[in-house]
Amino acid sequence: MNDCIFCKIIRKEVPAYIVYEDEHSVAFLDINPISLGHILVVPKKHYERITDMPEDYLKEFMASVQKVAKIIETKLSRDYNIVVNHGSKAGQIINHVHFHIIPRYGQEQLFIWTTHKLTEEEAEKILDTLKGV
Ligand code: AMP
Ligand code: ZN
Repeated sequence: MNDCIFCKIIRKEVPAYIVYEDEHSVAFLDINPISLGHILVVPKKHYERITDMPEDYLKEFMASVQKVAKIIETKLSRDYNIVVNHGSKAGQIINHVHFHIIPRYGQEQLFIWTTHKLTEEEAEKILDTLKGV
């Protein structure tokens, strides 16, 4: 047993607006939605990051994410973002893997990215860091 709020939702100890459930995953409405129908899909087993999950279990979980995405496409919008935050700098608040599926209707303020043109020097440096991956 742990204190994780999402584990409590999975164990039905804390109420949630569950929209989908199967053997491996639960999907429920985010209580602070960016748009109507903003859903969180979570694996039933507690892992902090997708990199912690055994590959087979991650595959089962991704099949559940796809099912929920199909529900969103059919019932709400074919435009949506799937977002996963890992680590505090990336905005992860709940340390239990969760995929946000956020339907887009056109008015949402989300992902105002500040970018720059990649330089050759930057590209070479980062490729050097990543090489062997
Ligand atoms: P993240 O910032 O990626 O960790 O996202 C955590 C999300 O969980 C936030 O969007 C919260 O609004 C949502 N959240 C936190 N507690 C609950 C809860 N009890 N039921 C539904 N959503 C929750
Ligand atoms: Zn948990």
